[in-house]
Amino acid sequence: MFRLIVLTLLLAFAMPCEWSSSAIASAASAAEPLRVVVTLPVLKDWVQQIGGSYVHVTSLMTGYESEHTYSPKPSDLVAVRKAALLFEVGAGLEVWVSSLVKNAGNGSLRVVTTSKDIELIRDHPQSAGTLHSHEHAAGNPHVWLDPAAAATMVRHISEAMVAADPPHAIDYRTNTAAYLQALARVQDESLALLRSLPNRAVIVHHPAWPYFARRYDLHIAGTIQTQPGGEPSARHLHTLIETIKRDHVRVIISEVQLNQKVPQLLARETGARIAVLTTLPGGLPGTETYLDMLRYNVLQLAQALEQT
Ligand SMILES: [Zn+2]
Repeated sequence: MFRLIVLTLLLAFAMPCEWSSSAIASAASAAEPLRVVVTLPVLKDWVQQIGGSYVHVTSLMTGYESEHTYSPKPSDLVAVRKAALLFEVGAGLEVWVSSLVKNAGNGSLRVVTTSKDIELIRDHPQSAGTLHSHEHAAGNPHVWLDPAAAATMVRHISEAMVAADPPHAIDYRTNTAAYLQALARVQDESLALLRSLPNRAVIVHHPAWPYFARRYDLHIAGTIQTQPGGEPSARHLHTLIETIKRDHVRVIISEVQLNQKVPQLLARETGARIAVLTTLPGGLPGTETYLDMLRYNVLQLAQALEQT
């Protein structure tokens, strides 16, 4: 019986030889998803929101690393070799991308900088007099924490996906429009929640929050880590404690990806509260998507500021 089935199948494929091979090829290409690589999980979420089942997306970073100290793995090279599109934030954040792309030698790859057209905020000198030498000459790269900037990034991603995969253009555009509406709703809700609070002064963990602070009208009174990965000096800690007391700062934004010791020390010394937030979706439970992360960060911060 089994042999009969095998024989029948063989004959079925062998007979109309040219027809069957081309039919198989086109069926395979229709089912083959658009292969996309992104640097940060926030970009992965947006590609999935827009592309659904038509895309296969790989994020090089997971959300548990600091976005500044990442170094690519061998599997990253493999992913870039197979991809049609690579999305990065840009603005000097992913300094390791250009050599990764060069080593991958993928001639058909298109690299898209999603922070294009967003006006970058220049980092300012710290009050202690030390320069904020956060890695970037172009400006601060943490644009995605402002939902309005996020909308611009989503549009860039959508346009590149439409160009790379025209048969699914209608789906991509429909999904993009729906997502941008949801994003605008969350932005309005979160603005209403944060902007009404009387004391909106905070200390931040590393200089990731200027775009978020501008959108939500927060006052960043000080920064713990002025260099990525570097711990603050005793002098800088002293200055921060003085600032917290003088400016009546009641909340410290600590980031889950960074060392919690210094925020805890500052909280102990001054009685300020800690709000543990994440700059990347997936960094904390309940922050798997960008919208979840935005809601989570705003709610945690609002609750901490409210108690002051
Ligand atoms: Zn950063």
